[in-house]
Amino acid sequence: MPGRSSIMPVISFNSVDSALSSLKTCQVSINTGIEVTTDVALALTEHEGGSEEVSNMEDLMLNYVSMDRELEQFIQAVDDVTNQIKQERPERMPDLKALVDKRFNELKNLNNFEDLLKSDKFIHFKGQLKEMKKQVGAEPHNESTSANELDEDIAVTQSQRNFICPITQREMECPVKNKVCGHSYEEEAIIKIIQNKHKQKKKARCPVVGCDNGDVNQNDLSADTTLRRAIENHKKYQMR
Ligand SMILES: [Zn+2]
Repeated sequence: MPGRSSIMPVISFNSVDSALSSLKTCQVSINTGIEVTTDVALALTEHEGGSEEVSNMEDLMLNYVSMDRELEQFIQAVDDVTNQIKQERPERMPDLKALVDKRFNELKNLNNFEDLLKSDKFIHFKGQLKEMKKQVGAEPHNESTSANELDEDIAVTQSQRNFICPITQREMECPVKNKVCGHSYEEEAIIKIIQNKHKQKKKARCPVVGCDNGDVNQNDLSADTTLRRAIENHKKYQMR
């Protein structure tokens, strides 16, 4: 029917709906992964009372929690964009993918590693492990699982991953955060990389493996005071 679409634009969301339903299937798989990881970590704790394997399970759990968070955010992005289009009723179908990507990146940019550690799913997991350790006698029975203890656990876990500079591979002293991709590095080390690359008239890539930020500039960096405080607290905790 020629002309009809110019009077009454018909925008179909069928493809969006079917993509969303397959994402929901992913969510089910992630939840299964979380359950299986919990079971394995609990079994390992039961038999070995907290070993390297258990901390591998913690890493795995963090991966699942992170995937879960991104999936939630992607679904949120699709929802936001769909609602926006339904409201604005543009004459032509806009570039859905670009809009969703943009919204998804906005949401993702708010992410940081500490929130992951504080997520309900990860805290629940750590709590279960703690209980199991107590049951098998790897933890003193008279100590209660206070919120404080969990915090300390989180601080320790954090130190193993987040306090290490991706460039120097050493614990950071002056961490700076890249506002573009959210990664943090030792200030001196990243500035040296940027300056060297710029001298060669090249762009400086974010040195974090898997990060697709290919143009890091000094303007993107600001002092990561939260991380700095966490590192300092962690040092105090270690010295006790
Ligand atoms: Zn990065």
